[in-house]
Amino acid sequence: GAPRAASGAAAAQLRQRLESELEDIRGAGTWKSERVIASRQGPHLRLAGGGAGIINFCANNYLGLSSHPEVIRAAVETLEKFGAGLSSVRFICGTQSIHKDLEEKIARFHQREDAILYASCFDANAGIFEALLTPEDAVLSDELNHASIIDGIRLCKANKYRYKHMDMQDLETKLKEAQKHRLRLVATDGAFSMDGDIAPLREICQLAQKYDALVFIDECHATGFLGPNGRGTDELLGVMDKVTIINSTLGKALGGAAGGYTTGPKPLIDLLRQRSRPYLFSNSLPPAVVGCASKALDLLMESNAIAQSMAAKTQRFRSKMTAAGFTISGKDHPICPVMLGDARLASVMAEDMLNRGIYVIGFSYPVVPKGKARIRVQISAVHSDEDIDRCVEAFTEVGRKHGALP
Ligand code: PLP
Repeated sequence: GAPRAASGAAAAQLRQRLESELEDIRGAGTWKSERVIASRQGPHLRLAGGGAGIINFCANNYLGLSSHPEVIRAAVETLEKFGAGLSSVRFICGTQSIHKDLEEKIARFHQREDAILYASCFDANAGIFEALLTPEDAVLSDELNHASIIDGIRLCKANKYRYKHMDMQDLETKLKEAQKHRLRLVATDGAFSMDGDIAPLREICQLAQKYDALVFIDECHATGFLGPNGRGTDELLGVMDKVTIINSTLGKALGGAAGGYTTGPKPLIDLLRQRSRPYLFSNSLPPAVVGCASKALDLLMESNAIAQSMAAKTQRFRSKMTAAGFTISGKDHPICPVMLGDARLASVMAEDMLNRGIYVIGFSYPVVPKGKARIRVQISAVHSDEDIDRCVEAFTEVGRKHGALP
């Protein structure tokens, strides 16, 4: 039937307030609309109501595993064998052998003692700080950390210090101030998703050692592909034995379905199972999702070929775009922000790129700082060299047309 509108003065007042708030968002030019995809996730897409053959450069499908035939088959098999879902949280009757196996596999992948699964990495970040830190402790957080880290930190009662983005002098100042607390935890994204830059983990770990602190990294944009074997930022920078806690997602490179986890020392994981609220009070990860992630990890542990292929594609895109005259932020990361400065330019260029069959997204204030608008391109191992070259050609044409290139 037709939707029923709630009646009454309070409902009418709410509707009016919401409509005015939505109007403000539209007026500020920050309205986010969603394009509807009519095909699987992958390097080539069909958009609903539009043509096929769109080349996709805006998913976190870094390794192309979201539609990998073996990943899909594993999901179907796990679905058939273990059912649609558990209808329960883990500690009541929601733990199957596949959940325990996946946790063991994640810990082995990262060379850590144990791991705990969540419905998302957002949940993993929401749970860890409150469970671990008390008012006697301190957390030191990079100012550009992901929203879920910021929210997780808000939920905990520790003393909070925010250091300037990747600024080691500022981190050292804050670590000195935080000496008065019982425990210090430095929290940073391993790779930052808006800039494609990688946290200086060697320096962070040195400072952590000097000031007796623990290091936590969010590896959502690193797990599966950074480092020689795709283990992440800690492998890339040679500090696997110095980072204490890793949170990451199963919803990006590792099959792209959903889910998140924490991996680290066994007593920490044991404590999270007792105390972490998003773990204790939310349904178990569905078997099909567990099947996807488990197969993705098998593929990555068998061979580093996919991760290496993504690195080569990234290098091709970054060097060709730089030669064409564009400024690409970050270094050696498949997140390649094409820096344009002006918000309108980023938006019209992204639209024009789509007209040429290249799906990219423009980002402007408040998602990124004022005057630093950009189009973010994300490279995947399953882009062909031809896909990448077509993207560079389209950027060059569109950049010339709109005055971003001479
Ligand atoms: N942390 C970072 C750095 C992310 O980019 C994201 C996803 O956007 C998350 C956490 C949340 O991950 P999930 O999608 O698994 O909730």
